Amino acid sequence: MAEPLTFEFRPYRRPFRQTLKTSHGNWTHREGIILKFADPQGRTGFGEIAPLPWFGTETQAQALAFCRQIPHQLANHSSAQTAFEIMPTLPACKFGFEIALRNLSCDIHCAELENRHYSGLLPAGEAALSAWTSLWAMGHRTFKWKIGVAPVAVELAWLSRLMEQLPLGAKLRLDANGGLDELTAHHWLDHCDRLGHRIEFIEQPLPPHQFNDLLKLAKRYHTPIALDESITTLDQLKTHYFRGWQGIYVIKAAILGSPSQLKHFCVDYPIDWVISSVFETDIGRQALIDLTIELAMLLPDAPHRVLGMGTQQWLPNDGLDDPDWEALWRRLRD
Ligand SMILES: [Mg+2]
Repeated sequence: MAEPLTFEFRPYRRPFRQTLKTSHGNWTHREGIILKFADPQGRTGFGEIAPLPWFGTETQAQALAFCRQIPHQLANHSSAQTAFEIMPTLPACKFGFEIALRNLSCDIHCAELENRHYSGLLPAGEAALSAWTSLWAMGHRTFKWKIGVAPVAVELAWLSRLMEQLPLGAKLRLDANGGLDELTAHHWLDHCDRLGHRIEFIEQPLPPHQFNDLLKLAKRYHTPIALDESITTLDQLKTHYFRGWQGIYVIKAAILGSPSQLKHFCVDYPIDWVISSVFETDIGRQALIDLTIELAMLLPDAPHRVLGMGTQQWLPNDGLDDPDWEALWRRLRD
């Protein structure tokens, strides 16, 4: 495309309805940036930067600084591409800009999957015991529960009660966010193995630097283990694949970098993945759904796992989940 483009961006800040407790600490606000390219024909391309600094991405301030140095007027599509080519340290920006430019040439975004294709995020702790019913009523059949936020004996007792309550056919994903020690991880995995296949997987039981211990756990227990914090960039994902990880890969696509490079890797190497949200607005969310659908078409025989995206009930009704992106954009005008 040889036409000039205009570029604008608007930051957002959304308070979670309820503080999100993880073993990284408490998370109270989701901050990010919406990007907008427009061409003289009135075509627009929206993208989203949704950084997650404690996963090793750029901060919101770094992402904003990057956006500020992009000119408002760009000569054409390819000068837009070269304007942000040099940024391996800004993976969330890389995702956001690639999506925005791609959206410029495709204007219909209406893919939505039924809730059974998304895992519903339960609150951590005992609150999960009463929270699953409304998610079940919404159609979710897979649930995700953060663990490692209370003593293991207490959490295992909650887990037993939760498993008694959950209907057969419900699946549970446990996410330790790398917060367990080896002994506690053995407790959890041993317990999960005795629950048969009702635990779909445990996400990141040990911190990333304990890769060899993670490999040993994966060999010893039947319950699958997923890597998440270990593989926050595409390079880390590749490294773990070539070091022999045969378990599951949790792909937080919005912070992993270039979605097209990710797609190529998934096509070239037979990995078992779960596409997962980092609490994006509708723009990032749609990109994740598009990516999932594209991968499913390219790789019909790959394992099918529901998306880690049942997260909207954690965010306020502030218009940023609106599938009308022009309306979403107008909301951010200050
Ligand atoms: Mg995780």
